[in-house]
Parts: sequence; C-alpha cells; structure tokens
Amino acid sequence: MPLLELENLIVSYGKTEALKGISLHVEAGEIVALLGANGAGKSTTLRAISGLAKPRSGEIRLDGRKISGAAPEAIVRLGVAHVPEGRRVFPGLSVRENILIGAANRRVARRALDAEACRMFDTFPEIRPFAEARGWTLSGGQQQMVAIARGLMARPRLLLLDEPSLGLAPLIVRQVLSVVVEIANRGAAVLLVEQNARVALSVAQRGYVLQTGELVAEGASKDLWSNDGLRDAYLGGQVDAMADTMRAQS
Ligand code: ATP
Repeated sequence: MPLLELENLIVSYGKTEALKGISLHVEAGEIVALLGANGAGKSTTLRAISGLAKPRSGEIRLDGRKISGAAPEAIVRLGVAHVPEGRRVFPGLSVRENILIGAANRRVARRALDAEACRMFDTFPEIRPFAEARGWTLSGGQQQMVAIARGLMARPRLLLLDEPSLGLAPLIVRQVLSVVVEIANRGAAVLLVEQNARVALSVAQRGYVLQTGELVAEGASKDLWSNDGLRDAYLGGQVDAMADTMRAQS
C-alpha cells in the first residue's frame, strides 16, 4: 500500500478549479517530484494534502486511511510536514526557536531536540550565526533554510516541500537536496514541488507534471527529463538553462 495516495482530487477556489481530478501516489522511501509552470496547481496539491485546502471531491489517503477533510493539526500529528513556498519565519523568535517549533508534535526530551537543532546548523551553517538572536535580518535564502530545518525537525514520514530551491544559491540547493535524500533513505517519503525540473529530477525517482490542474505526464525521472518534447513544453528546460547562466554570472 502506498504511503500517500490521491484519487481524483478536485480543489477549487471559488470558480477557479485549481485541481481538476488528479491521482498520484508516493511510496515510503521515495522522492517524487511534482513539476509544472506557475499556477499549474502544485502548491494547491500540497495544501490539500496538509489539510490547508479542502478538496471539493476525491480522496487523500495516508497508509490507506482517509485524511482529506481532517484538520491540518491532525494531519501534522500523523507525520506529515509541509514546508510552504515563501518564508514563514516568525520574526519575534530566534532562529533556534523557529526551528524547534517543527518538533512541537514530538514527545522527545528537550535536550535531544536541542542536539538535533544543533545538527541543523551543521547542515545549514549559514544560519548558525543567527541561532540565538531575536530581531535578526535574514536573507530570503536563509529564511528558506530555517523553514526547511523546521520541517525536518518534525521527523516526518511524509515531507511536502514547496520550491525549496527558490532563492538559494546552487551550492545551498545541493545541500538541501542531500538532506532530502537522507530523509528518504531513512524511510520517509518526500513530495518535492519544483519549477526547476532539473533540480527536482536530479534527486527524485519519479515525477508528475501538472498543467492547469491536470496531470499531463508521469514517469521515471530519467524518462521525463530525456523526453525533449516534454522538457521544452512543460519543464522549462530553456528557462532553466538561462537561469543557470545568469546565476553563474552573478
Ligand atoms: P506557483 O508556483 O505560482 O505557486 P502552483 O503550480 O503552485 O504555482 P497554485 O498556487 O496551486 O499553482 O495555483 C493553482 C491555481 O489556483 C492558479 O490558477 C491560482 O491562481 C489559483 N489559486 C491559488 N491560490 C488561490 C487562492 N487562494 N484563491 C484563488 N485562486 C487561487
């Protein structure tokens, strides 16, 4: 039985049908990419899984149990962590406190959690200097690292990552990806939303491609990436190449 299953999921915002009946699955230990252009419905898919967007119809199951319709807090307790797009860092708290919030659902001694938080600073050394400071000023990329570290502190069985590469330098993106691979190796599943298909497919075993609320392709990462038509039409191959060049120059 897959860890996560979506069946004929429809989600609308008023009259806009953001998801028009999508079905997908993610197995334990798997990294699965969810790709597509702006507005394709990627974030909505993650929001539906974590209970932030209510499906109009269809079903979401975790370990075969229906979770669609459940409250976001209940879904978190089942081991689903959602790292949303954009920076959700609480300004009144230190970076360490921001990271520890991720472990709020775990029954583990504070000292053990502190040790884990310290390891997050090994993973993301760039945010270590801000660990204790309140009133920090973090760059967008640094805030992204805090948000990801917080998600990892939940030790999730299913990690939903929305555009983790956004605003991060290539070296940091690689660090983030190696952490993602590590979590999957421990048996957790990762659903990785990316506009940057190359980044996502470099670590995912499989991927799905969304276009205006519908799945238009799915398959093994290497097949998706080596399909020229698909790459040009949906995966932004050229845009990626351009962005890489600009990053290399800056
Ligand atoms: P992006 O990378 O820009 O976030 P996405 O693939 O994640 O794109 P979604 O954010 O899921 O796409 O949006 C899917 C569709 O739903 C879009 O047409 C978007 O305009 C619409 N939409 C998203 N959120 C809302 C909302 N809160 N209210 C109304 N429409 C929304």
